[in-house]
Amino acid sequence: MIGGGTSPNHPVAAPDQRATRAEIDLDALQRNVELLRGELAPGTELMAVVKANAYGHGARMVAETALAAGASWLGVATVGEGMQLRAGGIAAPVLVLSPISPAEAELALQARLDLTVATPELLAALTDASRCATGTVGVHIKVDTGMHRYGADPELAAALARQVAATPGLRLAGLMTHFASVDDPDERFTDQQAELFRRCLGALADEGIVPERRHLANSAATLRGTSHHADLVRIGIALYGLRPSPTIPLPAGVRPVMTVRSTVGRVHALGPGSIVGYGGAYRTRSAEQAVLVPIGYADGYRRGLSNRGWMMVAGQRAEVAGRVSMDQTVVRLPIESPVNIGDDVVVFGGAPGSRAPSADQLAELLGTISYEVVSGISPRVPRHYMRGGQALGDDPSASTPAESGAERDHDAPAALVTRESS
Ligand SMILES: *Cc1c(COP(=O)(O)O)cnc(C)c1O
Repeated sequence: MIGGGTSPNHPVAAPDQRATRAEIDLDALQRNVELLRGELAPGTELMAVVKANAYGHGARMVAETALAAGASWLGVATVGEGMQLRAGGIAAPVLVLSPISPAEAELALQARLDLTVATPELLAALTDASRCATGTVGVHIKVDTGMHRYGADPELAAALARQVAATPGLRLAGLMTHFASVDDPDERFTDQQAELFRRCLGALADEGIVPERRHLANSAATLRGTSHHADLVRIGIALYGLRPSPTIPLPAGVRPVMTVRSTVGRVHALGPGSIVGYGGAYRTRSAEQAVLVPIGYADGYRRGLSNRGWMMVAGQRAEVAGRVSMDQTVVRLPIESPVNIGDDVVVFGGAPGSRAPSADQLAELLGTISYEVVSGISPRVPRHYMRGGQALGDDPSASTPAESGAERDHDAPAALVTRESS
């Protein structure tokens, strides 16, 4: 696969046939969106949060599937992520959830992105940039109601909202806040935050200023009843079939979207007392088989899983033996277990009832959350999009001018393989 047209922004599918891949079950995603919509208060819209390459699932395909299933907004973290969706032909409203620098204002406006604003400096930059923009700029004022990450104190937020309402090139598209600890069974802090938000809205309403949309809820707040649904909910992790916290169950039928798979690269019989991998961090007690799987921490299979993780190898549970290295991991099976080069490996995820670890289980081993496990699967791992149990035959959204130089792996039949750079 030697050819021109490659660019650093669009790494091409490499010519290798490495078996390691992330399968993205678009049917599950579609169903999850439908089921989550079924939980919403009447009239509440759903924003599919697709930041960080859709938590590692592939932003464009997730965005298209979620929109087709009834989401009406998309949420991203950066201007670049929003621009990438636009380059992929997505026209739906996109909100940049994180603060942007004033220097990015012009690019953001060109891409028709809505922006989250909590500082006078950013508002001034948007006001300037809006003078040469066509159409009006959607501004969502973020109120800090207690999380103290990003947002303006309620008084400043109200002042910013007034200013937006009075500026011809800007629209007060939203007033928003974010909850700090909605998974806490004690709901007092959350209620306090919601109350501060209501007061801010009330102060504006007294002056006749009404934002187009009010929004507060992430997945956790959405799943705790309808009281904070307002006009729009911003759902990330639950779309991907993962619970926001152990205390907040998902609606029945919502299931994980990502399965990371590979195949056995080598099988090696070891005698008792043999070491495995860097530092000899594992030593066999009896004869065992060392099974090589081509995935490592550079793929997002974290080194913290050394001697702790497990995978399903040819339908059998196999523990990680020794240290995870950058590109490969050794797992172990009893000497008599049937296993061959090329056998299937499920690294995590899998169909309902699969005995492979879930993203939640790996997260627990690592002392983190599933968000980090899935969003950490690196761009080196190709995403294979599945519908009806089949890999998609071609990418319906593949050829955009921005990506026409990217080559695909033509030798992977019937598979839609992408290596998006985000
Ligand atoms: C990421 C994000 C969300 C989505 O959170 P989940 O817990 O994944 O549902 C919602 N709102 C804001 C502001 C975010 O940054």
